[in-house]
Amino acid sequence: MKQRTLSIIKPDAVAAGKAGKIIADIENEFHIVAMRKLQLTRAQAAAFYAVHAGKPFYDGLVEFMCSGPIIVMCLEADDVIARYRKLMGATNPEKAEEGTLRKKYAESMSRNAVHGSDAPETAAVEVAFFFPGCDLL
Ligand code: UDP
Ligand code: MG
Repeated sequence: MKQRTLSIIKPDAVAAGKAGKIIADIENEFHIVAMRKLQLTRAQAAAFYAVHAGKPFYDGLVEFMCSGPIIVMCLEADDVIARYRKLMGATNPEKAEEGTLRKKYAESMSRNAVHGSDAPETAAVEVAFFFPGCDLL
């Protein structure tokens, strides 16, 4: 069944000029429904990652995510939520499988190049966070 998910190319990968390669890897497997480049405010980053509020890495994560431009994409394919998580690889790039985006492009556990929604409920909320319905083809 066709699904949609939210993908983010994080500030580390955009600043390092890796966005083109990451988009090419994504486009190889999935349909890109919509795409924007923007910089989050601190408040927007805090809201986007509110599920992690209170965890030891939360403040650093918010700081990092608003530190520079990001590229957000809505992806569509059969079972795209799980399949895009697989393409991203483990949160810690040292544990990510060969060929995954995090293995290829991430610097560290915190500066790990990409984000992907983890379930249908979060995907719906996260896509709506960045794309008003009228922007989705
Ligand atoms: N993160 C971190 N330290 C940790 C766990 C997570 O810096 O110990 C950051 C990392 O950038 C990660 C994000 O917080 O991508 C969200 O964490 P989550 O557990 O949701 O990982 P993901 O779903 O991105 O693989
Ligand atoms: Mg997550």
